[in-house]
Amino acid sequence: MDFERARKEDVNARIHVALEKAKAKQADLNAVVSFVDVESQIEGLKDIDENQPFYGMPIVLKDNVNMKGVRTTASSRILNNYVSIYDAHITTKLKEAGAVVIAKASMDELGMGGTNENAYTGPVCNPWDTSRISGGSSGGSAVLVSSGVVPFAIGTDTGDSIRKPAAFNGIIGMKPTYGRISRYGVIPYASSLDHVGYFTTSIKDAAVALEVLAGRDDRDMTSSYKEVENYAEQLNSDLHDKKIAILDNVQNAITNEEIKDNFNSLMAKLEARGATIEHVSLDDKLMHALLPVYYIIANAEATANHSNLDGIRFGEREDGESVEDVMINSRTKGLSSNVRKRFVIGSYSLFAANQEKIFRKAQKVRRLIVEELKRVLDQYDVVIADASATIAPKFKEKVQAGNDDIVTENYMVLGNFSGYPSITVPTGFVEGMPIGINMTAKPFEEQTLFNIGLAIEEETGLKGNDVEVDA
Ligand code: GLN
Repeated sequence: MDFERARKEDVNARIHVALEKAKAKQADLNAVVSFVDVESQIEGLKDIDENQPFYGMPIVLKDNVNMKGVRTTASSRILNNYVSIYDAHITTKLKEAGAVVIAKASMDELGMGGTNENAYTGPVCNPWDTSRISGGSSGGSAVLVSSGVVPFAIGTDTGDSIRKPAAFNGIIGMKPTYGRISRYGVIPYASSLDHVGYFTTSIKDAAVALEVLAGRDDRDMTSSYKEVENYAEQLNSDLHDKKIAILDNVQNAITNEEIKDNFNSLMAKLEARGATIEHVSLDDKLMHALLPVYYIIANAEATANHSNLDGIRFGEREDGESVEDVMINSRTKGLSSNVRKRFVIGSYSLFAANQEKIFRKAQKVRRLIVEELKRVLDQYDVVIADASATIAPKFKEKVQAGNDDIVTENYMVLGNFSGYPSITVPTGFVEGMPIGINMTAKPFEEQTLFNIGLAIEEETGLKGNDVEVDA
Protein backbone atom coordinates (compact mmCIF):
# COMPACT_ATOMS: atom_id res chain seq x y z
CA MET A 1 0.00 0.00 0.00
CA ASP A 2 1.55 3.30 -1.08
CA PHE A 3 1.41 6.61 0.72
CA GLU A 4 -1.70 8.38 -0.36
CA ARG A 5 -2.93 11.55 1.27
CA ALA A 6 -6.59 11.71 2.12
CA ARG A 7 -8.91 14.58 1.27
CA LYS A 8 -10.61 16.32 4.20
CA GLU A 9 -13.93 14.60 3.56
CA ASP A 10 -12.37 11.13 3.25
CA VAL A 11 -10.24 11.10 6.39
CA ASN A 12 -12.82 9.68 8.74
CA ALA A 13 -13.70 6.72 6.52
CA ARG A 14 -10.10 5.97 5.68
CA ILE A 15 -8.92 5.88 9.28
CA HIS A 16 -11.81 3.71 10.37
CA VAL A 17 -11.24 1.24 7.55
CA ALA A 18 -7.63 0.84 8.68
CA LEU A 19 -8.64 0.50 12.31
CA GLU A 20 -11.23 -2.17 11.49
CA LYS A 21 -8.72 -4.01 9.35
CA ALA A 22 -6.20 -3.99 12.21
CA LYS A 23 -8.84 -5.34 14.58
CA ALA A 24 -9.97 -8.02 12.13
CA LYS A 25 -6.39 -9.28 11.69
CA GLN A 26 -5.55 -9.24 15.38
CA ALA A 27 -6.66 -12.85 15.98
CA ASP A 28 -4.34 -14.11 13.23
CA LEU A 29 -1.36 -11.79 13.63
CA ASN A 30 -1.39 -10.56 17.26
CA ALA A 31 0.53 -7.49 16.09
CA VAL A 32 -1.16 -4.85 18.23
CA VAL A 33 -0.56 -4.11 21.91
CA SER A 34 -3.00 -1.18 22.15
CA PHE A 35 -5.47 0.36 19.77
CA VAL A 36 -5.37 4.14 19.90
CA ASP A 37 -8.41 6.42 20.09
CA VAL A 38 -8.53 8.08 16.67
CA GLU A 39 -11.39 10.54 17.12
CA SER A 40 -9.42 13.35 18.74
CA GLN A 41 -6.66 12.93 16.17
CA ILE A 42 -9.14 13.16 13.30
CA GLU A 43 -10.57 16.27 14.96
CA GLY A 44 -7.04 17.71 15.19
CA LEU A 45 -6.56 17.35 11.44
CA LYS A 46 -8.94 20.27 10.91
CA ASP A 47 -5.98 22.58 11.52
CA ILE A 48 -3.57 20.67 9.30
CA ASP A 49 -2.95 21.46 5.64
CA GLU A 50 -4.25 18.77 3.26
CA ASN A 51 -0.92 18.95 1.41
CA GLN A 52 1.06 17.62 4.35
CA PRO A 53 2.78 14.38 3.30
CA PHE A 54 0.99 12.12 5.80
CA TYR A 55 -2.36 13.91 5.65
CA GLY A 56 -5.12 11.57 6.84
CA MET A 57 -2.84 8.54 6.70
CA PRO A 58 -3.27 5.73 9.23
CA ILE A 59 0.06 4.76 10.81
CA VAL A 60 1.42 2.62 13.62
CA LEU A 61 4.05 3.27 16.30
CA LYS A 62 6.21 0.58 17.85
CA ASP A 63 5.19 0.26 21.49
CA ASN A 64 8.42 1.80 22.77
CA VAL A 65 7.43 5.20 21.34
CA ASN A 66 5.62 7.61 23.64
CA MET A 67 2.32 9.18 22.66
CA LYS A 68 0.58 11.39 25.17
CA GLY A 69 -2.35 9.72 26.92
CA VAL A 70 -1.63 6.30 25.36
CA ARG A 71 -0.10 3.20 26.95
CA THR A 72 3.58 2.63 26.18
CA THR A 73 4.52 -0.83 27.40
CA ALA A 74 7.51 -1.77 25.21
CA SER A 75 5.79 -5.17 25.31
CA SER A 76 6.93 -5.65 28.90
CA ARG A 77 4.75 -6.67 31.81
CA ILE A 78 6.48 -4.13 34.06
CA LEU A 79 5.18 -1.23 31.94
CA ASN A 80 1.75 -2.74 31.42
CA ASN A 81 -0.01 0.23 33.04
CA TYR A 82 2.34 2.98 31.92
CA VAL A 83 0.51 5.82 30.16
CA SER A 84 2.76 8.37 28.44
CA ILE A 85 2.53 11.94 29.66
CA TYR A 86 4.19 13.41 26.57
CA ASP A 87 4.73 12.82 22.85
CA ALA A 88 8.03 11.53 21.48
CA HIS A 89 9.64 13.93 18.99
CA ILE A 90 8.70 11.62 16.12
CA THR A 91 5.11 11.36 17.34
CA THR A 92 4.84 15.16 17.18
CA LYS A 93 6.47 15.24 13.74
CA LEU A 94 4.11 12.62 12.35
CA LYS A 95 1.05 14.32 13.80
CA GLU A 96 2.14 17.66 12.36
CA ALA A 97 2.52 15.94 8.98
CA GLY A 98 -1.11 14.79 9.22
CA ALA A 99 -0.70 11.16 10.32
CA VAL A 100 -3.22 9.41 12.54
CA VAL A 101 -1.83 6.75 14.88
CA ILE A 102 -4.23 3.82 14.97
CA ALA A 103 -2.22 1.39 17.08
CA LYS A 104 0.87 0.67 19.15
CA ALA A 105 2.63 -2.36 17.75
CA SER A 106 4.04 -5.40 19.51
CA MET A 107 7.79 -5.89 19.88
CA ASP A 108 10.21 -8.19 21.62
CA GLU A 109 10.18 -7.07 25.27
CA LEU A 110 12.20 -3.82 25.56
CA GLY A 111 13.58 -4.52 22.06
CA MET A 112 15.45 -7.58 23.25
CA GLY A 113 15.04 -10.29 20.66
CA GLY A 114 14.96 -10.99 16.97
CA THR A 115 11.79 -13.06 16.59
CA ASN A 116 8.97 -11.17 18.34
CA GLU A 117 8.35 -14.29 20.38
CA ASN A 118 9.38 -12.35 23.51
CA ALA A 119 6.43 -9.98 23.83
CA TYR A 120 4.33 -9.89 26.99
CA THR A 121 1.23 -10.12 24.77
CA GLY A 122 2.55 -13.22 22.98
CA PRO A 123 4.25 -13.89 19.63
CA VAL A 124 3.48 -12.01 16.42
CA CYS A 125 2.69 -14.09 13.31
CA ASN A 126 3.95 -13.55 9.79
CA PRO A 127 1.06 -12.64 7.45
CA TRP A 128 2.63 -14.57 4.55
CA ASP A 129 2.38 -17.77 6.61
CA THR A 130 1.07 -17.52 10.14
CA SER A 131 3.01 -20.60 11.24
CA ARG A 132 6.16 -18.51 10.81
CA ILE A 133 7.71 -15.74 12.91
CA SER A 134 7.46 -12.08 11.95
CA GLY A 135 11.04 -11.42 12.99
CA GLY A 136 11.78 -8.79 15.59
CA SER A 137 12.12 -6.80 17.58
CA SER A 138 9.87 -4.49 15.49
CA GLY A 139 7.66 -7.41 14.44
CA GLY A 140 4.25 -5.84 15.06
CA SER A 141 5.15 -2.77 13.01
CA ALA A 142 6.46 -4.90 10.14
CA VAL A 143 3.42 -7.13 9.84
CA LEU A 144 0.93 -4.27 10.04
CA VAL A 145 2.62 -2.79 6.97
CA SER A 146 3.11 -6.07 5.13
CA SER A 147 -0.49 -7.16 5.66
CA GLY A 148 -1.73 -3.89 4.18
CA VAL A 149 -3.25 -2.40 7.35
CA VAL A 150 -1.12 0.76 7.20
CA PRO A 151 1.33 2.12 4.63
CA PHE A 152 3.84 3.21 7.29
CA ALA A 153 5.04 2.12 10.71
CA ILE A 154 7.75 3.27 13.07
CA GLY A 155 10.33 0.75 14.26
CA THR A 156 13.58 0.87 16.19
CA ASP A 157 16.82 -0.90 15.38
CA THR A 158 19.62 -1.72 17.84
CA GLY A 159 21.04 -4.80 16.11
CA ASP A 160 18.83 -5.35 13.06
CA SER A 161 15.34 -4.99 14.49
CA ILE A 162 13.91 -3.09 11.54
CA ARG A 163 15.94 -4.61 8.76
CA LYS A 164 15.46 -8.32 9.58
CA PRO A 165 11.66 -8.24 10.00
CA ALA A 166 11.46 -6.12 6.82
CA ALA A 167 13.14 -8.98 4.92
CA PHE A 168 10.88 -11.63 6.48
CA ASN A 169 7.80 -9.59 5.53
CA GLY A 170 8.68 -8.38 2.03
CA ILE A 171 8.75 -4.66 2.79
CA ILE A 172 11.26 -1.85 3.05
CA GLY A 173 12.98 -1.33 6.39
CA MET A 174 15.00 1.87 6.77
CA LYS A 175 17.50 2.61 9.53
CA PRO A 176 18.99 6.06 8.87
CA THR A 177 22.32 7.37 10.19
CA TYR A 178 22.77 7.55 13.97
CA GLY A 179 21.51 10.98 15.01
CA ARG A 180 19.46 11.57 11.85
CA ILE A 181 16.15 11.07 13.69
CA SER A 182 15.66 12.24 17.27
CA ARG A 183 15.11 9.52 19.85
CA TYR A 184 13.51 11.84 22.40
CA GLY A 185 10.56 10.01 23.93
CA VAL A 186 11.56 6.56 22.69
CA ILE A 187 12.25 4.00 25.43
CA PRO A 188 15.93 3.17 24.99
CA TYR A 189 17.53 -0.24 24.74
CA ALA A 190 21.26 0.42 24.19
CA SER A 191 21.92 4.10 23.62
CA SER A 192 25.06 3.88 21.51
CA LEU A 193 23.34 1.45 19.13
CA ASP A 194 19.67 2.54 19.13
CA HIS A 195 18.19 4.05 15.99
CA VAL A 196 14.67 5.14 15.09
CA GLY A 197 13.57 4.03 11.64
CA TYR A 198 10.53 2.79 9.78
CA PHE A 199 8.79 0.46 7.35
CA THR A 200 7.21 1.36 4.00
CA THR A 201 6.27 -0.50 0.83
CA SER A 202 8.00 1.80 -1.66
CA ILE A 203 11.28 3.68 -1.91
CA LYS A 204 9.49 6.92 -2.68
CA ASP A 205 7.54 6.61 0.57
CA ALA A 206 10.75 5.86 2.45
CA ALA A 207 12.29 9.04 1.03
CA VAL A 208 9.26 11.16 1.92
CA ALA A 209 9.15 9.74 5.44
CA LEU A 210 12.75 10.65 6.19
CA GLU A 211 12.10 14.27 5.22
CA VAL A 212 9.33 14.33 7.84
CA LEU A 213 11.19 12.54 10.62
CA ALA A 214 14.78 13.74 10.33
CA GLY A 215 16.33 16.86 11.80
CA ARG A 216 17.88 18.38 14.88
CA ASP A 217 15.96 18.16 18.13
CA ASP A 218 17.54 19.88 21.12
CA ARG A 219 15.98 17.33 23.45
CA ASP A 220 18.18 14.57 22.00
CA MET A 221 21.80 15.62 22.31
CA THR A 222 22.85 12.92 19.82
CA SER A 223 20.61 14.32 17.09
CA SER A 224 22.45 15.88 14.18
CA TYR A 225 22.44 19.50 13.02
CA LYS A 226 23.08 18.33 9.48
CA GLU A 227 20.54 19.69 7.04
CA VAL A 228 17.76 17.35 5.94
CA GLU A 229 17.77 16.77 2.19
CA ASN A 230 14.89 16.63 -0.28
CA TYR A 231 15.28 12.91 -0.65
CA ALA A 232 12.12 12.30 -2.68
CA GLU A 233 12.80 15.07 -5.16
CA GLN A 234 16.38 13.89 -5.65
CA LEU A 235 15.46 10.24 -6.32
CA ASN A 236 17.45 8.96 -9.27
CA SER A 237 17.88 5.31 -10.18
CA ASP A 238 20.76 5.83 -12.62
CA LEU A 239 23.55 3.52 -11.46
CA HIS A 240 26.35 4.57 -13.82
CA ASP A 241 28.42 6.26 -11.13
CA LYS A 242 27.61 3.72 -8.41
CA LYS A 243 30.14 1.33 -6.91
CA ILE A 244 28.60 -1.61 -5.09
CA ALA A 245 30.56 -4.04 -2.90
CA ILE A 246 29.15 -7.52 -2.35
CA LEU A 247 29.94 -8.67 1.17
CA ASP A 248 31.43 -12.10 0.57
CA ASN A 249 31.64 -13.02 4.26
CA VAL A 250 27.85 -13.19 4.15
CA GLN A 251 27.13 -14.36 0.61
CA ASN A 252 29.65 -17.20 0.70
CA ALA A 253 28.05 -18.63 3.83
CA ILE A 254 24.53 -18.79 2.40
CA THR A 255 23.51 -22.33 1.49
CA ASN A 256 19.99 -21.84 0.16
CA GLU A 257 20.39 -22.01 -3.62
CA GLU A 258 17.22 -20.10 -4.42
CA ILE A 259 18.22 -17.24 -2.15
CA LYS A 260 21.67 -17.18 -3.73
CA ASP A 261 20.27 -17.28 -7.26
CA ASN A 262 17.90 -14.44 -6.53
CA PHE A 263 20.77 -12.32 -5.21
CA ASN A 264 23.12 -13.12 -8.09
CA SER A 265 20.56 -12.40 -10.76
CA LEU A 266 19.74 -9.09 -9.09
CA MET A 267 23.44 -8.17 -9.07
CA ALA A 268 23.63 -8.99 -12.80
CA LYS A 269 20.70 -6.66 -13.44
CA LEU A 270 22.29 -3.83 -11.48
CA GLU A 271 25.51 -4.36 -13.42
CA ALA A 272 23.58 -4.25 -16.68
CA ARG A 273 22.24 -0.87 -15.54
CA GLY A 274 25.79 0.43 -15.35
CA ALA A 275 26.76 -0.15 -11.72
CA THR A 276 30.27 -1.32 -10.88
CA ILE A 277 29.91 -4.45 -8.80
CA GLU A 278 32.83 -6.03 -6.96
CA HIS A 279 33.39 -8.51 -4.16
CA VAL A 280 34.87 -7.59 -0.79
CA SER A 281 35.65 -9.46 2.41
CA LEU A 282 35.92 -7.98 5.85
CA ASP A 283 38.39 -9.48 8.32
CA ASP A 284 36.93 -12.83 9.29
CA LYS A 285 38.08 -12.71 12.89
CA LEU A 286 36.42 -9.33 13.38
CA MET A 287 33.24 -10.58 11.71
CA HIS A 288 33.14 -13.48 14.15
CA ALA A 289 33.50 -10.99 16.99
CA LEU A 290 30.33 -9.13 15.92
CA LEU A 291 27.91 -11.06 18.05
CA PRO A 292 29.87 -11.27 21.33
CA VAL A 293 30.84 -7.60 21.08
CA TYR A 294 27.23 -6.69 20.38
CA TYR A 295 25.93 -8.63 23.36
CA ILE A 296 28.45 -7.14 25.76
CA ILE A 297 27.78 -3.55 24.70
CA ALA A 298 24.02 -3.91 24.23
CA ASN A 299 23.45 -5.68 27.52
CA ALA A 300 25.69 -3.32 29.50
CA GLU A 301 23.94 -0.25 28.12
CA ALA A 302 20.52 -1.86 28.58
CA THR A 303 21.30 -2.66 32.21
CA ALA A 304 22.12 0.98 32.87
CA ASN A 305 19.16 2.33 30.86
CA HIS A 306 16.62 0.09 32.57
CA SER A 307 17.76 0.48 36.15
CA ASN A 308 14.80 2.86 36.54
CA LEU A 309 12.28 0.04 35.92
CA ASP A 310 12.11 -0.78 39.61
CA GLY A 311 8.49 -0.34 40.67
CA ILE A 312 9.41 2.95 42.34
CA ARG A 313 10.54 5.30 39.60
CA PHE A 314 8.80 3.41 36.79
CA GLY A 315 6.89 0.21 36.45
CA GLU A 316 4.23 -1.77 38.26
CA ARG A 317 5.06 -2.04 41.94
CA GLU A 318 5.12 -5.29 43.88
CA ASP A 319 5.00 -5.23 47.67
CA GLY A 320 8.07 -5.83 49.79
CA GLU A 321 9.44 -5.33 53.31
CA SER A 322 12.05 -2.80 52.26
CA VAL A 323 12.73 -0.50 49.32
CA GLU A 324 15.19 -3.07 48.03
CA ASP A 325 12.60 -5.85 48.28
CA VAL A 326 10.09 -3.73 46.38
CA MET A 327 12.63 -3.28 43.60
CA ILE A 328 13.64 -6.94 43.52
CA ASN A 329 10.04 -8.17 43.56
CA SER A 330 8.90 -5.66 40.94
CA ARG A 331 11.72 -6.55 38.59
CA THR A 332 11.41 -10.29 39.16
CA LYS A 333 7.71 -10.28 38.40
CA GLY A 334 7.69 -7.53 35.78
CA LEU A 335 10.53 -8.64 33.54
CA SER A 336 10.79 -11.93 31.67
CA SER A 337 13.68 -14.31 32.34
CA ASN A 338 15.08 -13.42 28.89
CA VAL A 339 15.44 -9.80 29.95
CA ARG A 340 16.70 -10.57 33.45
CA LYS A 341 19.36 -12.85 31.99
CA ARG A 342 20.58 -9.98 29.81
CA PHE A 343 20.77 -7.68 32.83
CA VAL A 344 22.91 -10.27 34.64
CA ILE A 345 25.31 -10.35 31.68
CA GLY A 346 25.24 -6.56 31.48
CA SER A 347 25.96 -6.09 35.18
CA TYR A 348 28.75 -8.64 35.06
CA SER A 349 30.60 -6.79 32.32
CA LEU A 350 30.17 -3.50 34.19
CA PHE A 351 31.56 -4.71 37.53
CA ALA A 352 34.64 -2.64 38.38
CA ALA A 353 36.78 -5.77 38.26
CA ASN A 354 35.52 -6.74 34.78
CA GLN A 355 35.00 -3.42 33.10
CA GLU A 356 38.40 -3.10 31.51
CA LYS A 357 38.70 -6.66 30.29
CA ILE A 358 35.11 -7.06 29.09
CA PHE A 359 33.23 -3.80 28.46
CA ARG A 360 36.14 -1.58 27.41
CA LYS A 361 37.60 -4.37 25.34
CA ALA A 362 34.31 -4.81 23.51
CA GLN A 363 34.27 -1.08 22.80
CA LYS A 364 37.77 -1.30 21.35
CA VAL A 365 36.88 -4.24 19.12
CA ARG A 366 33.77 -2.36 18.01
CA ARG A 367 36.06 0.46 16.87
CA LEU A 368 38.21 -1.99 14.88
CA ILE A 369 35.11 -3.42 13.21
CA VAL A 370 33.90 0.04 12.22
CA GLU A 371 37.34 0.88 10.79
CA GLU A 372 37.13 -2.31 8.75
CA LEU A 373 33.73 -1.33 7.33
CA LYS A 374 34.93 2.20 6.67
CA ARG A 375 37.90 0.84 4.73
CA VAL A 376 35.44 -0.68 2.25
CA LEU A 377 33.04 2.26 2.16
CA ASP A 378 35.93 4.63 1.41
CA GLN A 379 36.04 2.91 -1.96
CA TYR A 380 32.41 1.94 -2.59
CA ASP A 381 29.03 3.61 -2.32
CA VAL A 382 27.39 0.68 -0.55
CA VAL A 383 28.07 -2.79 0.78
CA ILE A 384 25.31 -5.24 -0.07
CA ALA A 385 24.29 -8.75 0.98
CA ASP A 386 21.18 -10.81 1.61
CA ALA A 387 19.38 -9.56 4.71
CA SER A 388 18.94 -13.15 5.87
CA ALA A 389 20.28 -16.55 4.86
CA THR A 390 16.80 -18.01 5.23
CA ILE A 391 13.13 -17.19 4.86
CA ALA A 392 11.27 -16.44 8.11
CA PRO A 393 11.62 -19.57 10.28
CA LYS A 394 8.64 -21.43 11.64
CA PHE A 395 7.83 -20.94 15.31
CA LYS A 396 10.03 -23.10 17.53
CA GLU A 397 12.27 -23.93 14.58
CA LYS A 398 15.31 -22.80 16.51
CA VAL A 399 18.05 -24.06 14.26
CA GLN A 400 17.27 -24.70 10.66
CA ALA A 401 19.43 -25.78 7.79
CA GLY A 402 21.70 -23.01 6.64
CA ASN A 403 20.78 -20.82 9.56
CA ASP A 404 23.70 -21.69 11.78
CA ASP A 405 26.20 -19.17 10.49
CA ILE A 406 26.56 -16.48 13.12
CA VAL A 407 28.11 -13.99 10.72
CA THR A 408 25.32 -14.26 8.15
CA GLU A 409 22.59 -14.05 10.73
CA ASN A 410 24.01 -11.11 12.65
CA TYR A 411 26.08 -9.06 10.26
CA MET A 412 23.56 -6.23 10.00
CA VAL A 413 24.74 -5.04 13.42
CA LEU A 414 27.56 -3.43 11.40
CA GLY A 415 25.06 -0.63 10.74
CA ASN A 416 24.57 -0.13 14.47
CA PHE A 417 28.23 -0.33 15.47
CA SER A 418 29.05 2.29 12.84
CA GLY A 419 25.81 4.28 12.91
CA TYR A 420 25.89 4.21 9.10
CA PRO A 421 22.56 4.26 7.23
CA SER A 422 21.25 0.86 6.22
CA ILE A 423 18.19 -0.32 4.33
CA THR A 424 16.46 -3.61 3.56
CA VAL A 425 14.66 -3.88 0.23
CA PRO A 426 12.49 -6.84 -0.87
CA THR A 427 13.83 -8.81 -3.83
CA GLY A 428 11.57 -11.80 -4.37
CA PHE A 429 10.10 -14.98 -2.93
CA VAL A 430 11.40 -18.37 -1.91
CA GLU A 431 8.89 -21.10 -0.97
CA GLY A 432 6.21 -18.44 -1.12
CA MET A 433 7.95 -16.34 1.51
CA PRO A 434 9.54 -12.94 0.89
CA ILE A 435 13.29 -12.35 0.91
CA GLY A 436 15.32 -9.15 0.73
CA ILE A 437 18.74 -7.58 0.52
CA ASN A 438 20.42 -5.14 2.87
CA MET A 439 22.65 -2.22 1.91
CA THR A 440 24.77 0.06 4.07
CA ALA A 441 26.22 3.42 2.94
CA LYS A 442 28.49 6.15 4.31
CA PRO A 443 27.17 8.38 7.11
CA PHE A 444 24.29 10.64 6.03
CA GLU A 445 24.23 9.13 2.54
CA GLU A 446 20.63 8.02 2.83
CA GLN A 447 20.07 9.38 -0.66
CA THR A 448 22.45 6.76 -2.08
CA LEU A 449 20.45 4.00 -0.39
CA PHE A 450 17.19 5.38 -1.77
CA ASN A 451 18.62 5.74 -5.28
CA ILE A 452 20.05 2.22 -5.50
CA GLY A 453 16.93 0.97 -3.71
CA LEU A 454 14.83 2.57 -6.44
CA ALA A 455 16.83 0.79 -9.13
CA ILE A 456 16.21 -2.51 -7.30
CA GLU A 457 12.52 -1.72 -6.98
CA GLU A 458 12.31 -0.99 -10.69
CA GLU A 459 13.97 -4.33 -11.45
CA THR A 460 11.84 -6.44 -9.11
CA GLY A 461 8.57 -4.57 -9.52
CA LEU A 462 7.97 -5.26 -5.82
CA LYS A 463 6.25 -2.17 -4.63
CA GLY A 464 3.08 -1.12 -2.94
CA ASN A 465 2.39 -4.56 -1.56
CA ASP A 466 -0.34 -5.63 -3.92
CA VAL A 467 0.37 -9.29 -3.31
CA GLU A 468 -2.29 -11.19 -1.43
CA VAL A 469 -1.12 -12.35 1.96
CA ASP A 470 -2.64 -15.04 4.17
CA ALA A 471 -3.87 -12.93 7.04
N1 GLN B 1 18.23 -9.34 18.11
C1 GLN B 1 19.04 -8.34 18.70
C2 GLN B 1 18.87 -8.35 20.20
O1 GLN B 1 18.11 -9.14 20.69
C3 GLN B 1 18.72 -6.98 18.12
C4 GLN B 1 17.47 -6.40 18.63
C5 GLN B 1 17.23 -4.98 18.19
O2 GLN B 1 17.76 -4.49 17.17
N2 GLN B 1 16.45 -4.26 18.98
O3 GLN B 1 19.49 -7.62 20.92
